[in-house]
Amino acid sequence: MSDQLSALESEVAAKAAAVQTEADLESLRNEFLARKGGRLSQVMASLGRLPKEERAEFGRRANESKERIEAAFGQAQQRILNAGLQAELAQRYDVTFPGIPARLGRQHVLRRTLNDVVEFFHRRGFAVVMGPEVETEFFNFEAMNIPADHPARDAMDTFYLAGGTLLRTHTSPMQMRTLLAYPPPVAVLVPGRTFRRDALDARHAFNFHQFEGLQVDRGITFGHLKGFVTDLCRHLYGAQRRTRFRPSYFQFTEPSAEVDVSCAVCDGSGCRTCGGAGWLEMGGSGMVHPNVLRTAGHDPEMYSGWAFGLGIERIAMVRHGIDDIRAFTESDPGFLEQFA
Ligand SMILES: [Zn+2]
Repeated sequence: MSDQLSALESEVAAKAAAVQTEADLESLRNEFLARKGGRLSQVMASLGRLPKEERAEFGRRANESKERIEAAFGQAQQRILNAGLQAELAQRYDVTFPGIPARLGRQHVLRRTLNDVVEFFHRRGFAVVMGPEVETEFFNFEAMNIPADHPARDAMDTFYLAGGTLLRTHTSPMQMRTLLAYPPPVAVLVPGRTFRRDALDARHAFNFHQFEGLQVDRGITFGHLKGFVTDLCRHLYGAQRRTRFRPSYFQFTEPSAEVDVSCAVCDGSGCRTCGGAGWLEMGGSGMVHPNVLRTAGHDPEMYSGWAFGLGIERIAMVRHGIDDIRAFTESDPGFLEQFA
């Protein structure tokens, strides 16, 4: 009898280890453990035929067997459950697949360009001042020596708002605001957004960024302006770049000059980037007009100063070979992520 129980245990152990599905395990459990007709019950049924003194020992032995058989089935069930879970995970996730790196933000190329300019001015002791983007007509035009009927206003058409205000066409109004607030010596950098009523194309935008430098003190000459602008262009475009000043006309400077920088691609011999000119236009400059100093309450016989303004987009386009100004505002990651 004891041999029969041992044989039963071995058989269960072998079959339970091989079973693959819960359904097969269930029928195996029925085969061996069913109360009626189960194979353990069949062995137990012979209990009645044993001599009385052997029955207790056999009963104890049979209980042991039942526990071992149930343990074997329990193990098998756990194994099948785990295998099922693993299979499901593998179907849903491939844990060996490389992860997707998180996309990190970064500073916009215009911001980086501007920071570069700010650093240049900071090192030379200039203060950074920001002005209002919604300006009065006075600060945008009259204070900059552009009266109401002056044709220069046509070239600087902008968006007019209620109450005689407008979106500023340049950062120059901050020249006047600064000169009214502080007596010379004054040395400031004015960066910021500016607006024109221009149709959008590869070279024009109705919203762009400028910065301008202003220095007013006793004894400031055009030589100071040339030295400063030449130094800045070398900082922005490389030590080999040359600058030239072409006579020009602006209402708030006298004399006035356009600033060109030698083309970095052809070094002045002419190429597609510079349109064959060998030079790239950078912006306007000049000596602060005596009328501007007078409006601010400073004596032009005592003080003089220089001012110049450049476009941030223009600098970034030349530095990085970007040929369409719209790329800056289209938020295309493919474009923006080039500038790490
Ligand atoms: Zn060129």
